[in-house]
Amino acid sequence: MLKQILFALSVIITLAVFAWTMNRLFKYFKFTKKKPLGDYGKRLWITFKVAFLQEKILRKPVIGLMHALVWWGFIVIIFGSLEMIIDGLFGTERILSFMVPFYDFMMACGDIFALVITIAIIAFLVRRLFMHIKRFYGPEMTKVSKMDANIALTIILLLMVTLQLMNVDYLLWTDATGEKVHGVYPVSKWIASFSSGTSAESAWVGYQINWWAHILLIFIFANILPYSKHFHVFMSVPNVFVSRIEPLGYVENMPNITKEVKLMMDPDAAFAEPSEDEEEVERFGVLDVENVSWVNYMNALSCTECGRCTSVCPANITGKLLSPRKVMMDTRARMKEKGPGLVKEGLDYDDGKQLSGTYLTEEELWACTLCNACAQECPVNINQPSLILDMRRYLVMEESKAPSGLNTAFANIENNGAPWQFSPEDRMLWAEGLEVPLMADKLAAGEKPEYLFWVGSAGAFDDRYKKVSREFIKVLNHFKVDYAVLGIEETDSGDIARRAGNEMLFQMQALMNIEILSGYEIKKILTCCPHDFNTLMNEYPDFGGNYEVIHHTQFLQHLIDSGKVKMNGGTLKDKKITFHDPCYLGRANGEYEAPRSVLNAIPSSKVEMERNKSFALCCGAGGGQMFKEAEKGDKEVFIERTEEALRTGCDIIATACPFCMVMMTDGIKYKNKEEEVKNYDIAELVSMSLGL
Ligand code: SF4
Ligand code: SF4
Repeated sequence: MLKQILFALSVIITLAVFAWTMNRLFKYFKFTKKKPLGDYGKRLWITFKVAFLQEKILRKPVIGLMHALVWWGFIVIIFGSLEMIIDGLFGTERILSFMVPFYDFMMACGDIFALVITIAIIAFLVRRLFMHIKRFYGPEMTKVSKMDANIALTIILLLMVTLQLMNVDYLLWTDATGEKVHGVYPVSKWIASFSSGTSAESAWVGYQINWWAHILLIFIFANILPYSKHFHVFMSVPNVFVSRIEPLGYVENMPNITKEVKLMMDPDAAFAEPSEDEEEVERFGVLDVENVSWVNYMNALSCTECGRCTSVCPANITGKLLSPRKVMMDTRARMKEKGPGLVKEGLDYDDGKQLSGTYLTEEELWACTLCNACAQECPVNINQPSLILDMRRYLVMEESKAPSGLNTAFANIENNGAPWQFSPEDRMLWAEGLEVPLMADKLAAGEKPEYLFWVGSAGAFDDRYKKVSREFIKVLNHFKVDYAVLGIEETDSGDIARRAGNEMLFQMQALMNIEILSGYEIKKILTCCPHDFNTLMNEYPDFGGNYEVIHHTQFLQHLIDSGKVKMNGGTLKDKKITFHDPCYLGRANGEYEAPRSVLNAIPSSKVEMERNKSFALCCGAGGGQMFKEAEKGDKEVFIERTEEALRTGCDIIATACPFCMVMMTDGIKYKNKEEEVKNYDIAELVSMSLGL
């Protein structure tokens, strides 16, 4: 009876402290912005894959498997813990043992997992304490953060040791008393064999000590977790469930900006009756924690501080200040700091500090290439780039603070329909001497081409990429593809403006383009630019523009698969080619195979870079970086990536993106390798192989 009373007391204390902590953390959610979820079926599927199957953690197989085993072990061991709680409250002994053979199976698994987890945790501690693993370090990783991780790991270790000893003593006690053994304990049975002959009394005392130690450690651990990085033990599953489910390249729309842009484009709409939502005056972007969405805050609470995001961040790798882990840790810390004031004084509370400005500097925010490598890697599906972009949106739209290069690009897009200072009238100069049909002419002739070839600003104006547009046109003409271009009716897709935080400009471009595309009833779009591919395919639908968008590598793959293209390789036969994955084709939209299968169809040798496909390093141009100076660091991202490409010993670096092409070409020049190594787009390589 005394045991029951003591146990009930410890359960009450545990629950009370836990409830108090949860209330402390969760009451701040009401100050965050609303965000609808939807698509629950897809969310459940993602939760199953990411949280339960540990799909993302297993991207690094060895350490991933160890972590996954700990997680799966926890799930199994919970069964025994629940039984202990029922036994403790009702004074029973192994109350669930009637569920044979399920009970035997669960006990056996739990017993084996206890050993596996013990070994894994010792390995984790050794890594943390004695091996200099880069991702465990960084300015945001204070002594407290590191100690916190070590304390949590030590408690898990003690939990497993006490569990195993409890099982061992239970077996010794049954052995000494002749009582029936409930459950199967293969590991503990083996350990117990070294202590056979232990008296029933000693075994019983040992059993009780370990029983209490184990259950009390669970209660203590449950209340320490919310204050440590291991809070993800509770938060990871719900966080994965509410996390972003759209392709990584998609940027969420800002409906309040759409309203403004539509008013600008059609002032008559200003007299329309405003809806309730529209009357709400909102801040554009994120300045402080009350501007983040509840999902952002949930992400911040779930961050395990593992540093997987920071370890793949091109900005961080090249010595810049940005660390996506710090973005999440700062969001959490800022809410912890400002939350109590918000509770007392409401949203008007101002302590003179902000998330963007006090915690995260502009230098950090502008260093991001929006490559999404961090989001790809995060084991709990946190999306760091969307929060970084929201802070850029605030800087650009509320404070007019953007790096000067970006301001110039914005002005050019607004005035010339391209980020460079060219006349929109010159948009077709790239095609001089080629036969390139125009949509307007086709319409006049009563024809409706199957494809629109979206040339893109770089394809029309960038000196190097104009050559790629020309070569792709030669391929299209060679295979008599039914296509046309918009010519001077095309204007910038707005991708650069959007990712640099100028949502207003992006939406103006998007709405203008959609109007033109609708006029021609466009259904299928071909493009060489992965950024336009992503924007037209994933983002224009939010404004009513729905198209089948095909990247030129996908189109070429289709031509090859249909047996129409036979390439002899020409001068490429004895060349070694490596392919640099563009972030907005690969990571953002999952297309890794099309460019590779086109390259494989060209007789030549191929070699992969160390970081390839979803692990590929960004070229450094995305997120508007191409139009601004890089932030201070050890080296530029494009140099890091070019060095990696050169380490393969390749003759050709193949690309499939105008920005990547500029960056890799600059990298080759920087490394003085222009004679030995060339940079070609896949369209050029196909054209060369066909002898066009
Ligand atoms: S999107 Fe890329 S550059 Fe930006 S924080 Fe993530 S990994 Fe770093
Ligand atoms: S954001 Fe994700 S990957 Fe980065 S430290 Fe946190 S949990 Fe790890």
